[in-house]
Amino acid sequence: MRLSASTRVAGVIGHPVRHSLSPALHNAAFQALDLDWAYLAFDVAPGEGADAVRAMRALGIEGLSVTMPHKEDAAGAVDRLSPAAERLGAVNCVHLRGTELVGENVDGIGLLDALRLDEGFSPRGTRCLVLGAGGAARSVVLALVEAGAADVAVWGRTPERAEAAASSLGGRAVADPAEVDYDVLVNATPVGMPDSPGLPVDPAVLRAGTLVVDLIYHPPVTPLLEAARAAGCVAVNGLGMLIHQAAHQFRLWTGEDPPLEVMSAAAASAIAHRP
Ligand code: NAP
Repeated sequence: MRLSASTRVAGVIGHPVRHSLSPALHNAAFQALDLDWAYLAFDVAPGEGADAVRAMRALGIEGLSVTMPHKEDAAGAVDRLSPAAERLGAVNCVHLRGTELVGENVDGIGLLDALRLDEGFSPRGTRCLVLGAGGAARSVVLALVEAGAADVAVWGRTPERAEAAASSLGGRAVADPAEVDYDVLVNATPVGMPDSPGLPVDPAVLRAGTLVVDLIYHPPVTPLLEAARAAGCVAVNGLGMLIHQAAHQFRLWTGEDPPLEVMSAAAASAIAHRP
């Protein structure tokens, strides 16, 4: 990578952000296409996300990925929101177009691309059960509803949050996942990550032949995915979503087709070399 005074800059803001795989994915993609771009990670303290987004214009930073806890603040700091970002009130990608800051939310579409392109799964007409009611769950609910899912049931440990997420986005809140007939189950809670071990749902609800997606990718096989495989489900982790949402961001910023295989390999290598 040749860095110079004309190198174009993108990056990610978050807190914490040192674990982010995004620099590895994007820099590998820039290199593969011989683009004079660089992607950096900025650890931005809570409450300073809006200032960081506005600084893009002053500094000429052309693209920014936005992760926790800045997604809502970023939505308030841009000049224009995409329809999905507007409905979600959250932005995970900002693009500087001329002098205008445009906020997008490509998390949900990233998951749908991963399922379509990597698993051959089309959500149209399917019955879906989403566990969780936070930012990722909301973007998944909206993407599934917009892709024509027949039913999107949302379960959350805080029923009011599940109700709010479901009713505003075209899903329906449910009190008990065991009462839902589904073709695809999506875990959008952190349960299964190293600091939140365990299962997000009673494994008795898992049924052979269904698709079980865990948005977690570290560890690559969560207890939920292990239980899903044992029950005869197709089990998919969140790495595909991460790669495909990054691919959307890459296309928005550079206008180039993202090199998906390069990005996947970079993500796999970064995970393998994690401390
Ligand atoms: P978030 O906004 O904090 O929401 C987390 C949700 O999970 C909330 O609804 C929360 O319940 C629920 N929850 C937390 N702990 C729980 C527990 N012990 N039992 C049951 N429910 C629990 O987080 P997020 O941004 O949506 O992220 C959720 C997960 O998706 C994380 O694991 C994240 O790493 C993953 N993710 C993956 C990708 C990807 O590209 N693969 C992208 C985004 C997120 P309350 O509503 O009661 O707070």
